[in-house]
Amino acid sequence: MRLLIVEDEKRLALSLAKGLTAEGYAVDVVHDGLEGLHRATQTPYDLIVLDIMLPGMNGYRVCATLRAAGHDVPILMLTAKDGEYDEAEGLDTGADDYLTKPFSYVVLVARVRALLRRRAQAKGSSPVHTIGDLRIDTGARRVLRGADPGDQDEIALTAKEFAVLEQLVLRRGEVVSKAEILEHVWDFAYDGDPNIVEVYVSALRRKLGAGLIRTVRGAGYRLEAPR
Ligand code: CA
Repeated sequence: MRLLIVEDEKRLALSLAKGLTAEGYAVDVVHDGLEGLHRATQTPYDLIVLDIMLPGMNGYRVCATLRAAGHDVPILMLTAKDGEYDEAEGLDTGADDYLTKPFSYVVLVARVRALLRRRAQAKGSSPVHTIGDLRIDTGARRVLRGADPGDQDEIALTAKEFAVLEQLVLRRGEVVSKAEILEHVWDFAYDGDPNIVEVYVSALRRKLGAGLIRTVRGAGYRLEAPR
């Protein structure tokens, strides 16, 4: 999952980015409303955290412009506590949720997860995916092995491994290209070798079984989808 943070308080923006990166999200940060709008129209983000008072263009206008252009990316607005800006107005412009500053980081992560979960449900997909004897929970970000609920082992994945797996699970049975995985799992600061995806796929095969993820030569990877 790839997130965009548009926030001009640099220390806040960077600490949010650091925390969300540790949760396994790919996170891009910009400090200007216009730059945020530009990024949001260029990259298929899974969620945007959008401050209201921003240089360039304020958050309300960024949100309204995206909605008017037909973008339905979930938007979590950050509002100031002084009441100068109205939360209702944020929702009117098409934001999905808002959070009043100062907020606790734990609450922010919970809201981000809830919005992503709501989005997945709206698309008709449950957060828990059963593939063979694996249960992959994209809400709790865990993988369990074993068909019997009383006798399941958790398979420990790193946040990045889980994020790569998630992209394949969400499109199980389809070919997902390395570029698509990179786009959703790595942020724009990453300009290294796209073959990094192979490293993560190898780790997933080692932990989850060799037959789960097929390489489709020249095209990408496909998660086999036995029901
Ligand atoms: Ca601000």
